[in-house]
Amino acid sequence: MALTSGQLLDQVKRSIEEVTADQVKRGLQAGEIKHVVDVRERDEVMDGYIPGAHLIPRGFLELNIEEDVTMERDVPIVLYCAGGNRSALAARDLIAMGYTSVTSMIGGIKGWKDAGFSIEQDGLLSDDDLQRYSRHIILPEVGEQGQKKLLGGKVLLVGAGGLGCPTALYLAAAGVGTIGLVDADVVDRSNLQRQILFSEDMIGKPKVEAARERLLQLNPGITVNTHFELLTSVNAMQMLDGYDIIVNGCDNFPTRYLVNDAAVLSGKPVVDGSIFRFEGQATVYDSADGGPCYRCLYPEPPPPGEVPSCAEGGVLGILPGTIGMVQATEVVKLLVGMGTPLVGRMMLYDALDMKFRELKLRRNPDCPVCGDAPTVTELIDYEQFCGLPGHSEAAG
Ligand SMILES: [Zn+2]
Repeated sequence: MALTSGQLLDQVKRSIEEVTADQVKRGLQAGEIKHVVDVRERDEVMDGYIPGAHLIPRGFLELNIEEDVTMERDVPIVLYCAGGNRSALAARDLIAMGYTSVTSMIGGIKGWKDAGFSIEQDGLLSDDDLQRYSRHIILPEVGEQGQKKLLGGKVLLVGAGGLGCPTALYLAAAGVGTIGLVDADVVDRSNLQRQILFSEDMIGKPKVEAARERLLQLNPGITVNTHFELLTSVNAMQMLDGYDIIVNGCDNFPTRYLVNDAAVLSGKPVVDGSIFRFEGQATVYDSADGGPCYRCLYPEPPPPGEVPSCAEGGVLGILPGTIGMVQATEVVKLLVGMGTPLVGRMMLYDALDMKFRELKLRRNPDCPVCGDAPTVTELIDYEQFCGLPGHSEAAG
């Protein structure tokens, strides 16, 4: 017997159970409904969906329901679509798979919105982003949700120099949605040996501006905030406020202590790197996660002049790339929430021997800033603390 689509729908709707948006809302609030499944196509879901809904297009429903939603056949599942027809057909198919408590929501998402209930938006990546980040998305550890976390990530790079440049370049490529750059220098010809964001035509330009231009060429979908100034005790807390993670690419002691103290006081992780000649090191200071901070290791700065800078000691141009890559990797891991962060561990790298080593770092209960009885409870004058006249430069 031939059926029109209208006749088929009538028949199917008589054979399944339908619920109203109001019933679904109450069921969700009471915890009686555990699973709501949106069976519309990706482009429809972009405009908004019921908060917490599983998003499985109709064509994949039978294939993905067990893995994405539940194997259990008697758990209540509500299906919905745009207006209530596709979800009715979908309900019939889940019942055929043995699901015993499947319902279809009358009126679909339109009925839900008409009832005045809230919807969730930006749940999915755009087609452009799906393409751009496809190699991330197919990694089960990242996936679309992980990529969304990267896009929602806010990372402040202190110093747009040897370390900041490669770190920023990879973070931009990875789709870290907001990158802040703080640096008060202009591009110099001697930077081009290693500061890979810059080119000959950018000499004389503020590094943060030149960097922003290059990062947006690579990925116009991100936001790059520029702070053409020194990080100081006056602006640090406010500056850190807008970011989740701090990347330290500054090798002078006042900035190192300032970044550390400001990060501990605001409970944010610092992904730290440093470089000298052919050797580099990297770690993640995260006192909020129980890890040590910089001051746990070095409560006091060395006497001025005892440790030469890269300008005095030189640096292999590739070295900050290697360490910056470690920093970028740690940032991405922290944002996505995957792997084991470099907290409580210092990675040491020797380029001449091509060797990586690792040191264990421990939190110091007597640490003046993150210890059990901290004596540093606000930012201090770090130039004076380090016995230096004030000027902060990016590493390398
Ligand atoms: Zn500490």
